[in-house]
Amino acid sequence: MDTKRIFQVTAAILLISILASSCSTVPVTGRKQINLMSDSEVVKMTKAAFEQMKGQMKISRDPRMNDWVFEVSERISQQVFWDMPLAEWEFIVFDAPGQINAFAMPGGKVGVMSGLFDMVETKDELASVIAHEIAHVTARHTHERMSQAGILKAGSGISSLGTAIATGGMVHIAPSMNGQLAAWDRAKEAEADRIGMMYMARAGFDPNAAISVMGKMAQMDVGGPASGAYSSTHPSSQERLDALHAYLDEAMVEYEKAKALAF
Ligand SMILES: [Zn+2]
Repeated sequence: MDTKRIFQVTAAILLISILASSCSTVPVTGRKQINLMSDSEVVKMTKAAFEQMKGQMKISRDPRMNDWVFEVSERISQQVFWDMPLAEWEFIVFDAPGQINAFAMPGGKVGVMSGLFDMVETKDELASVIAHEIAHVTARHTHERMSQAGILKAGSGISSLGTAIATGGMVHIAPSMNGQLAAWDRAKEAEADRIGMMYMARAGFDPNAAISVMGKMAQMDVGGPASGAYSSTHPSSQERLDALHAYLDEAMVEYEKAKALAF
């Protein structure tokens, strides 16, 4: 073989071995995915990002919000133990009135904006939001974003990864927050909705609440984001609502099992 040919073969073998070693399976849906980022790398970066947020944003001391977020997150985190082995759980309510939002990061960091309580009225509803965010993490959507950023911007280094954490790790619930959403594709939202519904049910929260929350979001969508980019990549709440109805029976079975056990 000439030098060029040897180079091509070596490159192909290298690529195959990278892909083979970085394949993983999404919980609940069983989708196969490729991740070029290791769990420990991602966790390290998101931990630093969360610390920075805690330093920059006001933390809420509201007892009801804190109690609810702690109880709900704690119960869901127990259900995802095997899906997030490196998690060091931390649940924070940020004092952010008017921001109907929440996020979860790899490494077990969960942040809820106090404005979310303008929309959620029960612990079950809160559980549906937190479970959706945690599902984005266990499905390694953040890894996928970071892997993509790494592939697309190889060479531009840590800054592109930082951007990926900020957009991929910082997950959303409400359409109000923005530009970030455009980058999340429809399939990932649907996947997080499905996995989240199973997680909340297994933690003993009524999965019907996922439907009531999505119904409220569908109403908020009325006259919603004008951006075409947003609507082309982000499924409408109505579409998500229909999909959730399809998963309800399966989730109810888990919910009844969980209730019989403990809650
Ligand atoms: Zn989402």
